[in-house]
Amino acid sequence: MSTYKAPDPVAVLRDFVARVAPYDPEPQAEPVGTVEVRSAGDAGTIPLTPHLARALAEALAGYRDRADRGTCASCGGRRLDENLHCLDCGRLHGVLGQVIAHQAEQVRLRYPTGPADAATGSADGPL
Ligand SMILES: [Zn+2]
Repeated sequence: MSTYKAPDPVAVLRDFVARVAPYDPEPQAEPVGTVEVRSAGDAGTIPLTPHLARALAEALAGYRDRADRGTCASCGGRRLDENLHCLDCGRLHGVLGQVIAHQAEQVRLRYPTGPADAATGSADGPL
């Protein structure tokens, strides 16, 4: 059971506007849009001046999810766990993943016919 308590989105947006509005060079400019947000106990409609719209766009574009660990180099998937293990294709990323992938490639090149070849070492003959 999660103990995470989601913030009130209305309060979050109002706080954002309060932090950005003092720097708006044209606070009386015609709004380019509005944002309507509702929560369990509150609701708000906030007109967006060009400055506020830009600030909101930059804030959203700059957001990076805590679970975002990049993209899998093999399948392009975005679900890498905390060990940089791709949950879609199984590839392991990071330094350890590179070492394992390199070793696997070396084994593949050395024993091109597969595991049976690797088990007997027949690609190189007797050791
Ligand atoms: Zn993958």
